[in-house]
Amino acid sequence: MSSTVIPVDPFDLVIFGGTGDLAMRKLLPALFRRDADGQIPAAARILGLARTDQDTEAFKLEAREALQQHVAAEELSAEAVERFIKRLSYLHIDVTDSSAWGDLVSYLNERPEHIRVYYLAVGPALFGTIAQGLANVGLATVKARLVVEKPLGHDLESAIELNQAISSVFNEKSVYRIDHYLGKETVQNLMALRFANALFEPLWNANRIDHVQITAAESLGVGSRGGYYDTAGAIRDMVQNHLIQLLCLLAMEPPYKFDADALRDEKLKVLRSLRPLTGRAVLSSTVRGQYMGHEADAESYLKDVGNPDSRTESYIAIKAKIDNWRWSGVPFYLRTGKKLRAQMTEIAVVFKEPAHSVFGDLETPIMPNVLTIRLQPDEGLQLHIMTKDPGPGGFRLRDIPLDMSFAEGREGSWRMPDAYERLIMDVVRGNQTLFMRGDEVEAAWRWIDPIIDAWEASGLKPEAYDPGSRGPIAAVEMMARDGRRWREIEA
Ligand code: NAD
Repeated sequence: MSSTVIPVDPFDLVIFGGTGDLAMRKLLPALFRRDADGQIPAAARILGLARTDQDTEAFKLEAREALQQHVAAEELSAEAVERFIKRLSYLHIDVTDSSAWGDLVSYLNERPEHIRVYYLAVGPALFGTIAQGLANVGLATVKARLVVEKPLGHDLESAIELNQAISSVFNEKSVYRIDHYLGKETVQNLMALRFANALFEPLWNANRIDHVQITAAESLGVGSRGGYYDTAGAIRDMVQNHLIQLLCLLAMEPPYKFDADALRDEKLKVLRSLRPLTGRAVLSSTVRGQYMGHEADAESYLKDVGNPDSRTESYIAIKAKIDNWRWSGVPFYLRTGKKLRAQMTEIAVVFKEPAHSVFGDLETPIMPNVLTIRLQPDEGLQLHIMTKDPGPGGFRLRDIPLDMSFAEGREGSWRMPDAYERLIMDVVRGNQTLFMRGDEVEAAWRWIDPIIDAWEASGLKPEAYDPGSRGPIAAVEMMARDGRRWREIEA
């Protein structure tokens, strides 16, 4: 059991791309867990749809294997697995064939009263085709919900095209753009911390905060995604969506209520206040890197993507500024990269030092208070404060983390739900709060595009960094120029 369970209304969920990696690794395990927790009503059905030529029995077998692989053995009670597998069906449809949609219509029309969720777990090139296909056969109904995932465009122009292709069929109120970072418990806790406590909000501004660091470090390389990754790079794959979304939640003004559009309006204002980075400012405020070992057989980005001339970055650090009253002068340092020394995602809010030290010369310096919001490996919040080191013999201070881990205080069987569990159930409920609106996606690209343009115009190559390291030296130097240091990358 992961939380208080409020069952949702009966639904039919169609996974376009039902045999793919996203479906097998994330969506089916998440749906299984919600079902095992009793949130999915008996009548709900799940349909895998893909161009793989197979029947429902073969799909069920694949789904069973996916559960074995991606769900902990102790969660897989035989009863829960059987109940879940019974919900599954499969249709072999190539969505580019306009004559092939009849079976989907028949399947969905068996339960006209159900909420319909169309989850597009296929490449974005098919989003428009599927939206149009659904409209052509009368399935783009008012009750229907369309779910799409990154990459939502390659630049501003393609993002606008994608939004237009979707909005020509579906109303914005029916479109759910997933950024799974927003489904993380800690990210929502950031909002609880800010807006359900009187303690932090008075400190949440340029008067008290020195700077913010947002890090998404990966220890793995590009793996089997090399082909795609080399056309995107760290800025498109991570910054445009995940890191900027975290920045928005951290920096936004309190929404007038916790409602999808109120919240998204505030995020949009942050995006619009991001100081544009163009031309030479890009070169001084960003650092790009590529992992590259020294020995001939060492791991290298260029080898992993099979492109010896690639100028795509596997690491990026950006110093961003938000030009508004609250954040004037406070830098937001964003960094993300592959093949770094540990797998870690965190937001660190670094407060200013006390105005005056009453303690005179101390052996240990007074460290600034830091609030860390950790997304992985262990989701949780910590507030670092200075305390007196206990014991006689002089007055020493030490930096102590006040741990606010969420799992504590819960019963033994509690587990942290996966982001997809919450997000899919939110789609069924019709709650868009944790999903991106089209104008947010476009505003993010509007800020990102000139950065990429400036790199391309400079002709500069990303700086090499050692696999398993903290990233390029130039990123450390960028911080040092501001008299600051990156936080350690550690699991
Ligand atoms: P995948 O290649 O593993 O699966 C693609 C699926 O689409 C397959 O089921 C395939 O049969 C189906 N498909 C392709 N063309 C089709 C057609 N014409 N008609 C019907 N079905 C068709 O890809 P994936 O890794 O599952 O990713 C799917 C999408 O989700 C991509 O856009 C990807 O960028 C995005 N995404 C994936 C992940 C992930 O963890 N895998 C995470 C975030 C976003």
